[in-house]
Amino acid sequence: MLYNDEMRRDILSRLSGYRLKHTLGCEKAARELARKYGADEEKCAFAMLLHDITKNFSQEEQLNLCKKYGIIPNDVEKTEWKMLHGKTAAAIAADVYHAPADVTHAIAYHTTGCANMTLLDKIVYMADYIEENRSFDGVKTARKLAARNLDKAMLYGLDASLRDLVHRGKLIHVDTVLARNWLMNNM
Ligand code: FE
Ligand code: FE
Repeated sequence: MLYNDEMRRDILSRLSGYRLKHTLGCEKAARELARKYGADEEKCAFAMLLHDITKNFSQEEQLNLCKKYGIIPNDVEKTEWKMLHGKTAAAIAADVYHAPADVTHAIAYHTTGCANMTLLDKIVYMADYIEENRSFDGVKTARKLAARNLDKAMLYGLDASLRDLVHRGKLIHVDTVLARNWLMNNM
């Protein structure tokens, strides 16, 4: 068994405010996408419950977790250390909640995307992007696309993220570039 009600309550008790609301929104969105696209609904929901479990941690806490779990931040992650929350959440999901490898992979790459994304990876990425509490420009288009074609929705989300990063003068993570290129060559 992946997780039970008690574990779900334990995970949720570590979250509060917007982060809790967002996580519950993600859980719901991921279940919907899993049913639509024939993915393992419980794995999708479990990944969503844990995906932002370290999101509110400080830089010091993130770096301590990296040390503990042997995560080596790359140059972009050293500057944009908040990006590390995917990888540190994945490590906690495995260590504390015994999440299987496909679930921890989806958690690790929910922020950046990556090449060769599985259906589970894509659903976790998209559910995070379109869950009901999101309100950015373009979220309605992303929701419509996600209901019709998951790959088109992914490309829409990755393109929008890349444009936003350029617009804000931010560093771009190599995995986001790899995700977009791979998707364009495989859809
Ligand atoms: Fe996140
Ligand atoms: Fe999130």
